[in-house]
This record gives sequence, structure tokens and C-alpha cells, in this order.
Amino acid sequence: VRATRGGEEVRGYVPSMGQIFLRRFQMVTQFRQAIEEGQVSVHYQPKVSLPSKQVLGVEALVRWQHPEFGRLDPDEFVPAVEAAGLVGVLTGFVLEQSLIRVRKWMDEGLRISVAVNLSVRNLADEDFPAKVVEVLRKFGVPPELLTFELTESGVMADPQKALPILRELHGLGIVLAVDDFGTGYSSLAYLRQLPVDEVKIDKSFVLGMGTDLGDLAVVRSIVELGHSLGLAVVAEGVEEDVARDQLEAMGCDVAQGYLISRPLAEDRLEAWLQARTARSTGRKMETVLTL
Ligand code: C2E
Ligand code: MG
Ligand code: MG
Ligand code: MG
Repeated sequence: VRATRGGEEVRGYVPSMGQIFLRRFQMVTQFRQAIEEGQVSVHYQPKVSLPSKQVLGVEALVRWQHPEFGRLDPDEFVPAVEAAGLVGVLTGFVLEQSLIRVRKWMDEGLRISVAVNLSVRNLADEDFPAKVVEVLRKFGVPPELLTFELTESGVMADPQKALPILRELHGLGIVLAVDDFGTGYSSLAYLRQLPVDEVKIDKSFVLGMGTDLGDLAVVRSIVELGHSLGLAVVAEGVEEDVARDQLEAMGCDVAQGYLISRPLAEDRLEAWLQARTARSTGRKMETVLTL
């Protein structure tokens, strides 16, 4: 925002195009080093089954604590990282951190899976499945404890390339989920062709379902559609008790959202799991965790 006052230029707080460009440029040039220096971390958000509220898994969500720009959320830097061809580095890092976490749980006798978000670019890399197999082996994690979340646009960008890779990942026993379902050009025919196990209803519909009958109808249809195709249905963006109760009544299988927990850093997630288990069972952590 620019204005002139007495011939002198006054600048507002909205960054100029040049500043935005510079920031993106800095982000991509600094990304690898940021990982090495520990500025990039993975937060985890629990997913619980309905109605039992058992903790089935967590979704891995990347964060960047930038020394100059402060905390960056993925929407602010993942697109730049993708455009710079660095998504392999990002996914590799998140996957490794996530599997280290799952391995620790396994060693404690806990069966909790982790969901990692993939980018379109991962689905264009023919060597991606082999890389995944290598990391699973490295940590001795069974493929069914790993979920990959992909968006429809990610698959539809280049289905010729993406489909064989998805089939390979699915064939390995990795769970596949369609993320943000309902926002793209979703169609029944398209969902039926994908080798997926799970559909995640986009949070915009879940957030709106309490006040908007249209959103409620969309949520209800996705639950029915998913079930008719034999898929598990996950609702993201569950912030209110009412929404959770409605989802439960519709038969939605899994809930994720601020009502259950925000995405948490690793140590806080551990504390969260401990507290929930202690409260529900009065015993030590066991394979079944209940809210
Ligand atoms: P997503 O995969 O759809 O993740 C869900 C987003 O919704 C997360 O935002 C999460 O913090 C937020 N969320 C969860 N529960 C609630 C709720 O109850 N209310 C509201 N309002 N929001 C909720 P986040 O962490 O900012 O991530 C944004 C997007 O960035 C993700 O959307 C995903 O597409 C992408 N992303 C995150 N981590 C990674 C990653 O490691 N790799 C790639 N390629 N993309 C990532
Ligand atoms: Mg996701
Ligand atoms: Mg989503
Ligand atoms: Mg999203």
C-alpha cells in the first residue's frame, strides 16, 4: 500500500510484490539448511475413532520456525518449496520424523499410525515408492501404520504418472487417503478408480455444518458415498461438540480437529496421550487409548 504525503512516499504494512518475491526466494534458498539447523519440525494432530474415541493415528503437519519471519505454516512455504523442486527433501524429512515417532510407539507397545501429506511432485517421482520402502525398512515400521494423504488436484494434475505410483504404494500395504474431499472436481467415477482406503471431508464443510444446511448435506453425502465405496470416512475441522455428535450420528468413522486436539509438538503430544490414557483407564499406557 503506497500513499504520498507531502511528496514523500509512505508505506503501509502490506508487503509489496518485491518483498513477497524476496521472501519466497529466501525461503527456498534457506530450506535445506533450515532442516539441518532444526528450524523445521513436525507437529502431530490426533485422529480418533467415532464413537469409541480411540486414538487411531496422528497426522503429521510440518512447521518452520524461521529466524527472521517467525513461525511459518505450511500454506506459506510448501508452495514455494514445491515450485523450487525441493519437495523430495520436505517429504523425506517429514516421513523420517514420522516413522521415528511410530517406531517409538511400537517399542512402547502402542499401535498408532501416522499420516503424511504428499505433494503432486511426489506423485511424479517414479522412484518414490522405492524410497518409501527403504525408510519403512530402516525403522522396521509395517506399511499399514503409514497413511499418505493426497488431494484430488494432486492426483488429477497428471493421472498418467500418479496412478501407477499410487497403485504401487497401495500394493505395498500403505493406506491411502483423499484429503480435502469435496473441494475439487470430485466425482464418484474418479473416486472409484483410485486405489484409496479413506476419504477426508474438507474442513470447510465440517466447520459450516452447524449453521449451513448446504454444508450439512455435503457432509452427509460424502459419508454415504464413502461408505458405499467401502472407504473409511474422516472428518477434519471438528471444533464443536455438536459437530462431533452429528458426525457420529451419521456414521462418520473418524474425527480430527481442535475439539480433540490442535496439532502438537512431539513432547506435547506425548503428554496429551499420557493424560488421556491415565484419565480413561487409570492405568499405564496400553495399546488401546481412549479419550
Ligand atoms: P491438510 O492436510 O488438510 O491439514 C489440515 C489442516 O487443518 C492443518 O493446517 C490443521 O492444522 C488444520 N486443522 C486441523 N483441525 C482443525 C480445526 O478443527 N479447525 C481448523 N480451522 N483447522 C484445523 P496446517 O497444519 O496449517 O496445514 C495446512 C496444509 O498444508 C495441510 O492441509 C496440507 O495440505 C499442507 N501440509 C502440511 N504439512 C505438510 C507436509 O509435510 N507436506 C506437504 N506436502 N504438505 C503439508
Ligand atoms: Mg492432510
Ligand atoms: Mg485436509
Ligand atoms: Mg488442506
